[in-house]
Amino acid sequence: MRVNENILISSLTTMRLGGPARYVLEVENPSEVADAYGFAAQFGLPTFVLGYGANTLGHDDGFNGVIIINRMKGIAIDGQDTPSEDRKLGQAPLSVSEEDISDHPSTKLKIMGGEYWDNVVEYAVNKNLTGIEALSKIPGLACAAPVQNIGAYGQQISDTLTEIEVYDSYTGTYKTLSKADLQFTYRHSILNTSERGRYFVISITLELKEGQMQRPFYNSIERYIKEHDLVDLSPKGIRNIVSILRADKLPDPLEKASSGSFFHNIYLTDAEAEIAESKNYPLHRGSDGNKLSSAWLIEQAGFKGKLLHGIRVSDKAPLVLINESAKSFDDLAKARDEIASAVYDKFGYWLKQEPVEIINPPIKPGMFTTGSNQ
Ligand SMILES: Cc1cc2nc3c(=O)[nH]c(=O)nc-3n(C[C@H](O)[C@H](O)[C@H](O)COP(=O)(O)OP(=O)(O)OC[C@H]3O[C@@H](n4cnc5c(N)ncnc54)[C@H](O)[C@@H]3O)c2cc1C
Repeated sequence: MRVNENILISSLTTMRLGGPARYVLEVENPSEVADAYGFAAQFGLPTFVLGYGANTLGHDDGFNGVIIINRMKGIAIDGQDTPSEDRKLGQAPLSVSEEDISDHPSTKLKIMGGEYWDNVVEYAVNKNLTGIEALSKIPGLACAAPVQNIGAYGQQISDTLTEIEVYDSYTGTYKTLSKADLQFTYRHSILNTSERGRYFVISITLELKEGQMQRPFYNSIERYIKEHDLVDLSPKGIRNIVSILRADKLPDPLEKASSGSFFHNIYLTDAEAEIAESKNYPLHRGSDGNKLSSAWLIEQAGFKGKLLHGIRVSDKAPLVLINESAKSFDDLAKARDEIASAVYDKFGYWLKQEPVEIINPPIKPGMFTTGSNQ
């Protein structure tokens, strides 16, 4: 376990805001996770589990506690139905994407949580495995992927995840949680709702299929295929398309400070959806519910491309806030609140923030602080 002291949270998060964390512990094998929580308990300090910091924000006063980061690496092919040995890896598999792949052989990948997520996607598509290719280029570590059930371009990790290995910081035990235990919904699981701060994700297991993604594709993918007359719809082909679409729209966190989509889309009940449609709001009725685009609401409220307190509302994807020159969390909070209030005043919907915040627990004199603030 690597123990670091007084590390700026701005250097650990892609929005690049936040003061010093008292300790940052990097764990390199499962047994060190218990040691890390033991370390925090020994000093009576709160904990926060961090990944790559692409969906997490730091406050100016930092964190008087222990940040724990999963640095465990490795991907193991672990299923009984591993691809046949004579299959050439990387070859384009099927030409017709309407083919039913439900009975195709599946492959289980057990991925240690410290792996960078996009390396996992690359690994899978190089083996011609389908199921996560549309999740290409989402910044972050594999351990964080189930936390908010990452999703993009018609796939979400809950489609392929079968189980995760965790350390339960409440009971001090190691466990396996099944997909059913995680209760996935849009951008949520028990890991960021009812059991927030309880489990440290050690590894994730995905079950992927040989073959390729099934239609209907996301509109922008379909449009790109038609415009460029593409025939390669293999996992690699879709990964290429998604990478191009994302590069055109979303900031690269290494170049521009951001947390990706800053607000959740809005899900409406059927009755609310009818009202929205009667007002000609763009509503997407999908299997996951009635989705109203928060990007559209922000654009209609006049914020697309605007700079507020050093925070730029992306002109290509208005859900994305980019930190151009803000030095303080307060600047970001002011920009966020101005946008959310204006959308509420105009449309009557409250935008909800997607990234989580690392917050110091309130200090009471004589209080012995334990557990997590997540
Ligand atoms: C440019 C950009 C584009 C993005 N695009 C998308 C997108 O298309 N779709 C999408 O869903 N998201 C997107 N995101 C958000 C982000 O990439 C994902 O949420 C990603 O999973 C965050 O991973 P991370 O390792 O950075 O997590 P962090 O931000 O470090 O942590 C996120 C949450 O996971 C928890 N966590 C981290 N590690 C562990 C662990 N070991 N055990 C338990 N909990 C843990 C944290 O406590 C926190 O609650 C984007 C972000 C950016 C900056």
